[in-house]
Amino acid sequence: MFAQDEPCGTISTPESEAHFNRMKNQIEQLENEFMSRTAMQRNSTALTSVPIKAHIIRQTDGSEGFSVTDLADALEIVNTFYANANLNFFLCEAINYIDDTALYDFQTDSQDDMSTDYGVDDVLNIYFTNSVTRSTTGSSVCGYAYLPPGPELILMKNSCAMNGSTLAHEIGHFFGLNHTHGPSNTELTEELVDGSNCNVTGDNICDTNADPQLSNSVVDSSCDYTGNLSDANNEVFVPNPLNVMSYSRKICRTVFSDQQYARMNAIYQIFRNNLNCPTFTADFVADNTTICDDTATVTFTDTSVGATSWSWDVDGDDVIDYTTQNVTHTYSAAGNYDVTLSISNNLETITKVKTEYIQIGFEIEATQIRLEIKFDNYAEETSWMFQNSEGSILYSGGDYGENDNGTTLDQTFDFAPGLCYLFTISDIYGDGMCCDQGQGSYELIPIVNGTVGNTFYSGGEFAASASKQFNIAGVLSLNGFNTSSITLYPNPTRSKITIASPMNSLPDAFTIYTTLGQKILSKTINSETDLEIDLQDFDTGMYFIKLTKDSMSVTKTIIIN
Ligand SMILES: [Zn+2]
Repeated sequence: MFAQDEPCGTISTPESEAHFNRMKNQIEQLENEFMSRTAMQRNSTALTSVPIKAHIIRQTDGSEGFSVTDLADALEIVNTFYANANLNFFLCEAINYIDDTALYDFQTDSQDDMSTDYGVDDVLNIYFTNSVTRSTTGSSVCGYAYLPPGPELILMKNSCAMNGSTLAHEIGHFFGLNHTHGPSNTELTEELVDGSNCNVTGDNICDTNADPQLSNSVVDSSCDYTGNLSDANNEVFVPNPLNVMSYSRKICRTVFSDQQYARMNAIYQIFRNNLNCPTFTADFVADNTTICDDTATVTFTDTSVGATSWSWDVDGDDVIDYTTQNVTHTYSAAGNYDVTLSISNNLETITKVKTEYIQIGFEIEATQIRLEIKFDNYAEETSWMFQNSEGSILYSGGDYGENDNGTTLDQTFDFAPGLCYLFTISDIYGDGMCCDQGQGSYELIPIVNGTVGNTFYSGGEFAASASKQFNIAGVLSLNGFNTSSITLYPNPTRSKITIASPMNSLPDAFTIYTTLGQKILSKTINSETDLEIDLQDFDTGMYFIKLTKDSMSVTKTIIIN
């Protein structure tokens, strides 16, 4: 009986919690995108291949040990689960057999030496062994893993690898999932039954019920919860004994929630996308990933290793578009396109999916854009800028000083509608802002007449720079007072400009700003003669004019040449 109830040895650490919290906004953004795509039944059904290095520990004489058949069966079960996270695991190179009786009944204090001797970098190393014992307490566990940014390894007791749920559970930890009962195995979860704090405590997942920590003694053989513990509001817990990330009976653990799948995909993209089998890996880059125009030609360069043939689906419709190594494709309609490359080495095929990788005619509704930056430990390497379609710099910042290391920047800028802009963030050292020298990140957030929208561009891991092109859509207002009903002519101009507005929606006033936001002219409009503005004393360049009527406003661009 005890063997049936051996727990998982994975623990959440202050480091892993801090790691998660620093990137929480990005993780949530990716989760929301993942779940909305799933709800809309995305066209592309391709799964990204993730390499596993299988290490099978045997007796010194080569006897015993996990069988190849059992390994294949265990991986098949795992892959059935993880297809819902758009991930698929494959074995990187041959199985590594470790014939060492001293490791066969594994003590956790052997981990570092074993990992140094046999571990493969940038691959999920899974060690299968007869038993796993915590050296500190002498207690036996079924297996353990590490939450990001912990090492890329999992220890699995052979019998537990065959129980149908523990291997999927440990891989869940590797992709950032906590136990449904939260970070502690000794204290009752703080997550409330009513779900009101589900986002900030417990497992930080909102579609898994608050869980007071399950075990074989409070889950019956029908997989029903039989406990009666209550939360801080005296509400009785209603945990889900079927969730794979619980401590329920192993046989009962058969489901991940939708958000758990979305979380694992997001964590893969943010923290685990370094996983690459050194001799066989699928990957690619594009010369341009976001384009304002509705048509664009993009060149994809294969960066795979070990391929002898290539299959590209460049628009996410599950149809193979090209079978050459490098391809050039012309997109003729606006949209966000998944790009998938499958490669083969004659023996097997693996796949890399980049979701919404190519964004054509990308448009964001906004009157302002907020830039948030969390600096890494080398703020002096970071700089950024917004440019217009002519390449003129509208706003910029950096470099920053050492005093800014680890601090946050939060600035909001005006943008005129109907135009294309390019945001670029750079790291002069060429190592991005995450994650070797601190957890730096950046986000662009749209604001529509004071209302904050959802982040539309974010990141932290890049090399020398990362950039995004975006159109600002006109924001419609009431009563015909909107972007399309007001025009400015001539524009560009040398001396005068006239505001053309339908008579029934004459603006109340206008204000002209420099691109740095400095107010330089403001006037109330009393009659049509006030619609002609004299600009001859202004320097040449780009300006914004903000027109207001009642509580509404539109901002447009003026160019003086
Ligand atoms: Zn666990």
